[in-house]
This record gives sequence, C-alpha cells and structure tokens, in this order.
Amino acid sequence: MREDHHSIHIDGREIPLIVRRHPRARRIILRINTAGEGAVVTIPAHADPADGLEMARRQSTWLGERLDDMGARTEFRDGVQVPFQGQDYTLRHDPAARGPVWIEGDEIYVAGDARHMTRRLSDWMKKQARAEIAPLAHAKAANIGHAPSRITIRDTRTRWGSCSSKGGLSFSWRLVMAPNEVLDYVVAHEVAHLEHMNHSPAFWQTVDKLTADARHGRDWLSDNGSALHRIG
Ligand SMILES: [Zn+2]
Repeated sequence: MREDHHSIHIDGREIPLIVRRHPRARRIILRINTAGEGAVVTIPAHADPADGLEMARRQSTWLGERLDDMGARTEFRDGVQVPFQGQDYTLRHDPAARGPVWIEGDEIYVAGDARHMTRRLSDWMKKQARAEIAPLAHAKAANIGHAPSRITIRDTRTRWGSCSSKGGLSFSWRLVMAPNEVLDYVVAHEVAHLEHMNHSPAFWQTVDKLTADARHGRDWLSDNGSALHRIG
C-alpha cells in the first residue's frame, strides 16, 4: 500500500488529499480522512492516481460539506466569541434594544427575540460583507480594465468566491469574519478571473498585482477557513 500526498484547490480553499493505492481495492473510493485532515482516495492496484484526483475534484462539493459538518459549531448566542474582520468580539443579546445589530467596544449587540439572533446576525454580516467587498471588487477590476457584471454575496460552502463566464462575481459573506487582507486576497483572486478563466502563471501574476500577499491569504484560508464555516 503506498500513499501520495496531494491537495485539491477550490478557489482559495485547500483540502489535503491522500491518494492511497490498495491491492484489493476494486474501484476508486473517496472518504473523509477521520485520522487526519482532508480526505483519502483509495485506488485499485493498477489504476492511474490521476483518476483518483479527478474523482475527488468531481466530488468537491460533497467533500467540502462533509468536512464542514465534522467540526463543532459555534452558534450565534449570548456570550460566545465571534470573529469580525479578523478581531474577536463577544456576542451580546439585548432583547429590549431597538437595534437591530451594533458594535460597542469589543462586543457585538443583537436586539430582538433570541430565536432570531442567528438570522439577524448573519443578515448583518452579509450586509457588512457587501459593503466591504463590492467597492473593493469594482476598484480592483477597474485597475485591470474590467468591470464585474454583478456582485453576489451568499453562504457558499465550498468556495470563498467564484467568477462566472459572464463576469458575475460571487462571494461568501463569511469572508467578513476573516482578517481584511484575507478578504482582499479572495476579491483579487476572483477579479483576476475576469482576465484569466484559469489558474495559469499569468493568472497568479494578475492576482499579485491586485493584492499585497496572495500566499498569506491562501495559507490563512487553508488553516482557518473551515472554522469560519462552523460559526453561526
Ligand atoms: Zn480561482
């Protein structure tokens, strides 16, 4: 039995992948790596490891969702710590306030019924994400002579951002919890796709032109990204 270590990259998020050759395996099997991080793909004795990688790429949505489900979740409720723009805040529930959500020092207050706290706070985070991301994406795109056709903020599970063939950019609102330079990298990454619909060296050159430290952004997301998906 031999193992090769790879990783699959889905827009800013890197998932470690072990390709394991097994003499008795009859077909390619993909599973979560319960002993470590990421996933394991088992391939039959004479199979091409590239087929294992290909299978993992095809199943990347499933893979990302399973990995997200594994860790403990931090719910949005009174007293918990929640990151916002890379800083930790304590959540405070204030049912009587007229709010709906505001920051005071290192606390984020959420008004109204406790049952609606999650929705209120994620709606607020989404709004903050749009306020950060939209001007940044327009400015970076203008920098390379492009303009996004639209900008969408959503709760994507496997991707931090994406760029459609029509020039529409979409981003995860969860980026607003990450440090600003990480959000900046993801915006630069998707904007660079307006110029290059691939991850060629020319693409990465454009990314480097649009953000200060792409490598740091990628590393940060691969270390901390899945934790952001377990909040709220
Ligand atoms: Zn990309």
